[in-house]
Amino acid sequence: MSVVGDVRRSTGTSYWLREALAADPGEACPPLRGETTADVVVLGGGYCGLWTAWFLTERAPGIDVVVLERDVCGSGASGRNGGFVGAWWDEIDGLAARYGDDAALAACRAGDESIWAIEDWCQRQGVDAWYRPADYLEVASSEAQEGAWGGAVEACRRLGEPERYRDISAEEVQRVCRTPALRAGAVMRGATVQPARLARGLRRVLLERGVRIHEGTSASRMGRGSLVEVETKDGLVRAGRAVIATNAWAARWPGLRRSLVVRGSYIVLTAPAPERIEELGWTGGEPICDVRTALHYFRTTPDGRIAFGGVGRALGSRIGPGYDHDEVSLRWVAEGFRRIFPSFDDVPIEEGWGGPVDVSATHHPWFGTLPGGAAHYGVGFTGHGVSQAHLGGRILSALALDREDEVTELPFVNRRPRRFPPSLLTGVGGAVIQRAILRKDRLEDAGRRPGWLTRFVASLPRRLGYALGPSR
Ligand SMILES: Cc1cc2nc3c(=O)[nH]c(=O)nc-3n(C[C@H](O)[C@H](O)[C@H](O)COP(=O)(O)OP(=O)(O)OC[C@H]3O[C@@H](n4cnc5c(N)ncnc54)[C@H](O)[C@@H]3O)c2cc1C
Repeated sequence: MSVVGDVRRSTGTSYWLREALAADPGEACPPLRGETTADVVVLGGGYCGLWTAWFLTERAPGIDVVVLERDVCGSGASGRNGGFVGAWWDEIDGLAARYGDDAALAACRAGDESIWAIEDWCQRQGVDAWYRPADYLEVASSEAQEGAWGGAVEACRRLGEPERYRDISAEEVQRVCRTPALRAGAVMRGATVQPARLARGLRRVLLERGVRIHEGTSASRMGRGSLVEVETKDGLVRAGRAVIATNAWAARWPGLRRSLVVRGSYIVLTAPAPERIEELGWTGGEPICDVRTALHYFRTTPDGRIAFGGVGRALGSRIGPGYDHDEVSLRWVAEGFRRIFPSFDDVPIEEGWGGPVDVSATHHPWFGTLPGGAAHYGVGFTGHGVSQAHLGGRILSALALDREDEVTELPFVNRRPRRFPPSLLTGVGGAVIQRAILRKDRLEDAGRRPGWLTRFVASLPRRLGYALGPSR
C-alpha cells in the first residue's frame, strides 16, 4: 500500500484548524485600514502573541492592545502542531550545563507551571481545547536510541527532582502502547490539546476583553523612534511598545535573522480506527515521541485517530507553500508511521499537513528587546512552543510593561541569542548536515550502524556547540 498515496492534499490549513473553525468560526476580525494607536502592538496571532496579549490585559487592566495577524489566528504553527504540552525536564542536563543548576531548575519549574496553567485557563475561560493530562513518554524506537534520555534522568535525580523525568522499562512502555517498535524510555507529566482550539479560544477571550485583532494584516515594516510605527499594506499602528511573536517568519526580520533557522514539521492523520487504538491498549491519551535526531511524535484523538508527526526537509527561511504541504516530507513521516504502527497497515492516512518551526541554536526560545528599547521579541521555540509560548507570554508582557519578576530572571531572557554562522548551518552546509542526520536515522531505524563520515557530519552542529543534531 502506498504510504502517502492516500493523503488528501492539504488546502493550506490543518485538520485541527478546520475542526476548530467548524466548531466556532468566531466573530470577524477585519484587516487594519488606516492609522491607529495602541499601548502595545503585537505582531503574530499564534500562542506567543495571543498569550502576550492575555497577560498584558491581566497585568494592566484597561491597556490598549492591538494584534496584527498575517492570516487568521491559529493559521501558523499554533493551529498545526501535534498538541503535545510538555515540560523542560527532558532537557535539564543541557540547561544545567549551559546556565548552571539553579537556572536550569527555575526554567523547568516555570515550564511545568505553564502546563497546568493552560489547563486552569481553559477551564476558567470555558475553552474546550480537548485538554487531557497524561504521561508524556519519550522512548527508543530503535536500538541505537536506547538510553538517550539518561543524562536528563540523572540530572533530575541529582537536582532532587527524581520523579519529574524518570526511566520507564520496555514492559511499562508496552503497557501504554503495545506496538513492537517501542522500547524503553523515560516519562514526565504533560498533556495534549487540540492545538487550533486553544489558539481560537485565546482569540475569543481576547476579543471579549477588548483586544483589537486584525487578521489578514501583515506587518511589513517597523520604524522605531520614541513610538513604534508598524506599517501594514493598508494601515499603520503607532504604539508605545511592539512585541514580535511571528515564529519562523521572524527569521527574516532585521535584528533576528541569524538567531533562527527554519525547519518544517509535518503530520499525517489516520482515519478513525478506535478499535485498533483499543488493541494497542493506548487509551490513556499519552503523547509519545521517539528519540531519533529527527524525532517522531504521535498521539491519539478522541475519535480514535493517530496523529503522527516528524521533521521535514530543509526548505529555507522564506516560508512558502512547502511548509504547509511537502510531498517528500510527508512521505518520510508516513514511512515512520507505517514502521512504528504495523497494526494500522490497512488504516488509511486521510490527511497530511505541515508548518514552520523556528529552530534556535540552543534548542530553547529567547526573549529580549531590540536596540532602541521599544520592540521585544520571543522566538526560537524549536518545535516545543505549546507550553513554552504561555511562559513566553508571561515574559513578554513583563518586558513590554517594564516589569521585573521571576520569569524575567530566567536565563534566556534579556541575553543575546546564540547566533548561527551564515554558511555552516544554513544554505548548502545546512542541507548537507541534514542529509547526514537523515541517513543516520534511517540506517539506525533499520538496525544498521552508520559509517564514520555520516556520523561525523551529522554531529557537526554539536561539535560546534549548537544544541542540534545527535548527541552521540
Ligand atoms: C507540525 C508542527 C508540529 C508541532 N508540534 C508541537 C507539539 O506537539 N508540541 C509543542 O510544544 N510544539 C509543537 N510545535 C511547535 C509549536 O507549534 C510552536 O512552537 C508554537 O505554536 C509557536 O507559537 P508562535 O505564536 O510563536 O507561532 P505561530 O503560531 O506560528 O504564530 C506566528 C504567527 O505570526 C503570523 N505572522 C508571521 N509574519 C507576520 C507578519 N509580518 N505580520 C503579522 N503576522 C505575522 C503568522 O501568520 C502566525 O500566525 C509544532 C510545530 C509544527 C509546525
